Amino acid sequence: MATIFSKIISGEIPSYKVAENQDFLAFLDINPNAKGHTLCIPKKETNRLFDLSMDEYTALMQFSYSVAKAIEKVVECNRVGLSVIGLEVPHVHVHLIPLNEMKNAQFTHKENLTSEAYQSLAADIAEAYKSQN
Ligand code: AMP
Repeated sequence: MATIFSKIISGEIPSYKVAENQDFLAFLDINPNAKGHTLCIPKKETNRLFDLSMDEYTALMQFSYSVAKAIEKVVECNRVGLSVIGLEVPHVHVHLIPLNEMKNAQFTHKENLTSEAYQSLAADIAEAYKSQN
């Protein structure tokens, strides 16, 4: 069965997209640790990070690097953290999380955003991503 992230890739489930290329997609996490919390995923459905080939892993990290640069331009933060952790969705995903306090790195701390805030944030990050690629 397709993962929820494959359904996002196919458009079956909506998302707030921030970046996309032939092999990868980035979209805002719907239950964010911090404003700007973004997920980067390979379009090819793979369960675990280290199931990826070395080339796929490197390409995912390169994509995540470009997305993090775009987040940094838009979201005020001390730095963007990166985490590959969690058991919920069996589809590789890199969490990019703007950090101001250590609680932003804790997946028990969550922020609420309106759908308007998600939309405008995604549009701003998408613009910053496009301007550098
Ligand atoms: P984990 O597998 O523990 O890293 O958790 C999966 C992450 O995906 C969580 O941070 C969820 O908030 C996020 N998530 C789950 N469903 C969606 C969705 N439809 N759109 C955006 N983010 C999602």
